[in-house]
Amino acid sequence: MVDRLYHFVGGARVEGRSGRFAPVFTPMTGEISAEVPLASAAELADAVANAKAAQPAWAATNPQKRARVLMKFLELLNRDFDKLALKLALEHGKTIPDAKGDIQRGLEVVEFAIGIPHLLKGEFTEGAGPGIDMYSMRQPLGVVAGITPFNFPAMIPMWKFAPAIACGNAFILKPSERDPSVPLLLAELMAEAGLPKGILNVVNGDKEVVDAILDHPDIKAVGFVGSTPIGEYIYSRGTANGKRVQAFGGAKNHALIMPDADMDQVVDALIGAGYGSAGERCMAISVAVPVGQKTADILVDRLASRVRTLKVGPSTDPTADFGPVVTRQHLDKIKAYVDIGIQEGAELVVDGRELTLQGYENGFYMGGVLFDRVTPEMRIYKEEIFGPVLCVARADDYEAALALPNDHEYGNGVAIFTRDGDTARDFAARVDVGMVGINVPIPVPLAYYTFGGWKRSSFGDLNQHGPDSVRFYTKTKTVTSRWPSGIRDGASFVIPTMG
Ligand code: NAD
Repeated sequence: MVDRLYHFVGGARVEGRSGRFAPVFTPMTGEISAEVPLASAAELADAVANAKAAQPAWAATNPQKRARVLMKFLELLNRDFDKLALKLALEHGKTIPDAKGDIQRGLEVVEFAIGIPHLLKGEFTEGAGPGIDMYSMRQPLGVVAGITPFNFPAMIPMWKFAPAIACGNAFILKPSERDPSVPLLLAELMAEAGLPKGILNVVNGDKEVVDAILDHPDIKAVGFVGSTPIGEYIYSRGTANGKRVQAFGGAKNHALIMPDADMDQVVDALIGAGYGSAGERCMAISVAVPVGQKTADILVDRLASRVRTLKVGPSTDPTADFGPVVTRQHLDKIKAYVDIGIQEGAELVVDGRELTLQGYENGFYMGGVLFDRVTPEMRIYKEEIFGPVLCVARADDYEAALALPNDHEYGNGVAIFTRDGDTARDFAARVDVGMVGINVPIPVPLAYYTFGGWKRSSFGDLNQHGPDSVRFYTKTKTVTSRWPSGIRDGASFVIPTMG
């Protein structure tokens, strides 16, 4: 049976009115499980009106009480953890253990947001001048919005709405139309946790509602995560409309393997980071860079036997290494990249294109793909494939290897595997990428640090979660006050100084 999904506005489920819907698939079977309404600009305007009406009272609620709602939400998330993970796995395609990781990394930002009252404190200078005190305060922006991708349908919505709401804003979430059920359930859990109506709204849709968000004058800030071309568009249209925008985009994450690296550790790390979640992670390793021909030969040989034995299975198989990809369209795109790689002259070491699973013939599956002798001018090197495809780009020495991530247009994550502290330290200092792993393949910073790439992996100045999230979702006001009021020193026509 096909479920009809809804929006969540003003604390209640709301049916779509636009008459437009998109199918939501179960990637492991290829069936349509639901249809999601695609909101119009008028439906977005209703959500914004609800949010705008509710926000002043929420901003006036003391920060500790706001944090308590998130504390209750955390409790409910833990209560429903398994149910949410199953739903997420069925709609996205990732395995259930991986779906649990998706929820867990979001939950950790909720934990961080519970401590946000500490970061909302302003500064105070007593006696900045005669009878003058000076202080700063952080105030919420008002109504803010988040536009999120399909690949982390629990984590990224929580990265957005938890800090924003803790800071006293009202939030409009526009999740991916490919897996909208978990974001809707999260909003309902926030309501159950005691969040006032209108503070968290979910409006489903596609470009039409995204454009309405970017153009709505009452939305003060937009946080986006998704592909680079869309992120760049969101950033330019949103900022042209006077909004604060942060847009996180695509990636091509390199892992350098030095000749002295622990090869057992490297192979395990690359297999997990390259093929986990079918490569549909912005922090997946998609390019391995062995340094020296001997390192490369050993690495390719060892990777090949592991890639051939990867277990691809339905999302509900607890023994599967990874599941199907999100849609048939995406599967076709990944396979087309494999064709392109062959035409470009890369060496196809393992070909996973022909995989089918008995009993799941219509699911969106493919096996792991391994390419060797990939070079920087190839499209499979330059472009994000976002599938279970690992490219090996050989480098003669460390400097040539370092030049690869540094010259690439993306700069999200990067890793180096070595036993040498000097090399690791030099790499961390000189690599032109925002998040660096040293013998760590997926260096996603913890919730109390910030997450963000460099170059064309990110548009805007501030990162997500950690202290930057408070900076992004608040504005600073600085007050200069003079007491007692009896001081009189006449009109002054020069710029005031405390001198
Ligand atoms: P996407 O860009 O297709 O979609 C992201 C969001 O934008 C969705 O909500 C979607 O509905 C909306 N959208 C899509 N097309 C649009 C258009 N033409 N106009 C306006 N809005 C549009 O991305 P995706 O396929 O859902 O997610 C995968 C991408 O996200 C990958 O590129 C991945 O690297 C990236 N990603 C980046 C990070 C990061 O933090 N840098 C994290 C996760 C995913």
